[in-house]
Amino acid sequence: MASVMRTAALEAPRRFGIVSRPLPVAGPGEVLVRTAATAVCHTDLGIYTGEHPGLKYPVVLGHESTGTIETVGDGVAGMAPGQPVIINPIISCGHCDSCRRNAQHLCRNAGLFGREVDGSLSEFVCLPARYVHALPAQMPLADATLIETLATVRHAQNRLNVARGESVVVLGMGTTGLLHARLAALAGAGPVIVISRSQWKLDMAMRMGAQHAIDTGAEQAVAEVLRLTGGDGADVVIDTVGGDATLKAGIDMLRPGGRFSPYAVSHACCPTFSTFPLYFKEISIIGSRALAPSDMEPSIALVASGSIDVAGFVSATYPLSRTAEAFEEYERNPGRVLRIVIDGREG
Ligand SMILES: [Zn+2]
Ligand SMILES: [Zn+2]
Repeated sequence: MASVMRTAALEAPRRFGIVSRPLPVAGPGEVLVRTAATAVCHTDLGIYTGEHPGLKYPVVLGHESTGTIETVGDGVAGMAPGQPVIINPIISCGHCDSCRRNAQHLCRNAGLFGREVDGSLSEFVCLPARYVHALPAQMPLADATLIETLATVRHAQNRLNVARGESVVVLGMGTTGLLHARLAALAGAGPVIVISRSQWKLDMAMRMGAQHAIDTGAEQAVAEVLRLTGGDGADVVIDTVGGDATLKAGIDMLRPGGRFSPYAVSHACCPTFSTFPLYFKEISIIGSRALAPSDMEPSIALVASGSIDVAGFVSATYPLSRTAEAFEEYERNPGRVLRIVIDGREG
């Protein structure tokens, strides 16, 4: 095996270099993974454009990653070369109070693989074996990158405790909105109402089990949600857009006692928000952050069983050497893209 590998390193905002780096060696408890596919998401776009504060360059992005085990270090059980895997990118310290409570996603010293530590836009990655999860042999590795996103969606819906027969509204139909709609349908929610300005995304949501699609902005959709829920309002609203307008509209759509998920990661201030509806309608706002290790295996099973079809999300595939083009395209057309995948196996 060669002793160097090719890596796409982000050297400054919007500037990638394809560089040679020493091939890592799996130490005790570690595995070396040959990268197959890395999906690029909104988090990556924020790092790419330099909006993420406190970043140190160069940084190797890539946190929605699949590959195959190349070598295993001493003491690693249950993994052998050739095994297809997906990476849990939420790095945790293992000894803080959150980690001791088994809430590794809330680790006081948390990092993201592909931001605080080097990610998978590289031919190989080396990491502790506890961060890799086995995939079934036949699963296409580009599509399987979606499982990481699915795990974050599952994490949020578990916190919302969506029950059979509850009405669920999902605002925004990017990848996460689509997966939220599908998971709500699988939980037996009804009606599942999806809202987006993109008709093709609404069509996709309907194929994934949504019952009503509303082709408008969130504010204009409030009256229609009330009509579709018999005047009551929804039991649950999940906001995958983020910001002032969807927060206000989302709370307006809820029935008294309803639950709101501010799922989208947003730093936007919400000047129209007041706590009054939390009092008057007794609304619960339920946060969720990333995914817990325990979300990974059930998410793999949902895809392996066919309950969730992750085919059709990948809008384009680029080889590692053309990473810069992939990000340029994503930044130009974020609304038209569900996922762009970078193939680590092609030059
Ligand atoms: Zn992501
Ligand atoms: Zn910790």
